[in-house]
Amino acid sequence: MPELPEVETIARILNPLVQGKTIASIRVLRPKNIRTGAAGFVASLTGERFLAVTRKGKFLLFHLTHGKVVVSHLRMEGKYYEAKAGCTPAKHDVLIYDFSDGSALRYNDVRKFGVLLLKSEEDALSTPPVADLGPEPWDLTPEALYKGLRLKKKEPIKGALLDQRLVSGLGNIYADEVLFAAQINPKTPAREITLKECGALLKEARRILELAIAEGGSTIRSYHAKEGIDGEMQHNLLAYGRGNRPCRRCGFPLRKIALGGRGTVYCPSCQPLQGHPLIVGVTGPIASGKSAVASYLAKKGYAVIDADRLVRSLYGKEAVKKAVAVLFGPKALKNGKVDKSYLLGLVSKSPKDKKALEGLLHPLVFADIEKKIAATKARRLVLDVPLLMGSPLEKECDLIIAILASEKAQEARLAARGADPKKSLALNQGWPRGAAKKAAGIVLDGSGDLPALEKQLDAYKFL
Ligand code: ZN
Repeated sequence: MPELPEVETIARILNPLVQGKTIASIRVLRPKNIRTGAAGFVASLTGERFLAVTRKGKFLLFHLTHGKVVVSHLRMEGKYYEAKAGCTPAKHDVLIYDFSDGSALRYNDVRKFGVLLLKSEEDALSTPPVADLGPEPWDLTPEALYKGLRLKKKEPIKGALLDQRLVSGLGNIYADEVLFAAQINPKTPAREITLKECGALLKEARRILELAIAEGGSTIRSYHAKEGIDGEMQHNLLAYGRGNRPCRRCGFPLRKIALGGRGTVYCPSCQPLQGHPLIVGVTGPIASGKSAVASYLAKKGYAVIDADRLVRSLYGKEAVKKAVAVLFGPKALKNGKVDKSYLLGLVSKSPKDKKALEGLLHPLVFADIEKKIAATKARRLVLDVPLLMGSPLEKECDLIIAILASEKAQEARLAARGADPKKSLALNQGWPRGAAKKAAGIVLDGSGDLPALEKQLDAYKFL
């Protein structure tokens, strides 16, 4: 979706293309996109001349003679192309203006979400949808932004910046860029943003949008302003599209999360969440070397939360013992304790039993970990969680370290622990290797010995 700088760029490209041209005829190929009605649109505009193209928010305003204005929102994929009068319509063309000088302008919309409205000069800015737009960053004071943010209930600042009634002109790309530049964590509750931070946000918003406009916008996915013209702003983007790549300021891997349904990229190290520890999730299949990584980080001052240890303590609780006996029969208890090797035998053979055990333990473990995170005084925290991927804890992590190991290395470690390698490895089936690799800022090879693992970790100086 084009954002403010892209729309500004398009307005600047279109302005000289249409200025002074008279509409000889209008061919409407997809009437639905003309929200004020296609027949009136054609009847009213034929014979009129284009005076100028301007922009308000992400709306293009085509000003014509006799005080008429076409308001155009490109939404996802709307594009304007220069053409020749009488040209054959292309697939997904919505309308074609044929000009009296033999040229034409095509509006094409692959996704068909674009909106066109015929308005008068008096109404164009003062009626919806344009009238619903809040001020752009150039027209907003830190005090007014601060006041607006205080009214947000639980919304994080990222979502608040996307609210076009509060501040118009920041979409998903530039909201991430502005927060990165102002060093504010996107998860920060909007109402906790200080007046000083509001000043920084507006200053960075203006600077970044001006830079993007000067660069002709970003070329993101299939979007381009005009055939053959691409913006250069993508080379200046420091956060957007750079998940897991090193922060250009500090080297820490940028983290990509979903926030309010929108992909969001931030640097956990230079955009820390105030009052919260930096959380590193260590995940990997059984006996891959997770605890070695956790101990390495513990030596560096990280507090460690170990999910396996929490599971062991859960087995000591009466309610859990009772539930285990109900799920797996009385044999699952021996001398009043959970018989772990019996359970392992069951769950290594039966996916149904494995699911049942996980259904019992996981919610309890995750709730325990959430409680520990909330209570910690540590500034840096490691979560050693084998089944982190897809769990509610995944999105809380600022960095995920995935540790992968060869089966041979896993077997050797399991044998050294006195565990049954075959049964234990059976538990690994379905461990989400692909998802972990994709989400991980650091991927380690745990196939070697401890010094080999530590050597890999030493390379990450920011840890
Ligand atoms: Zn950084």
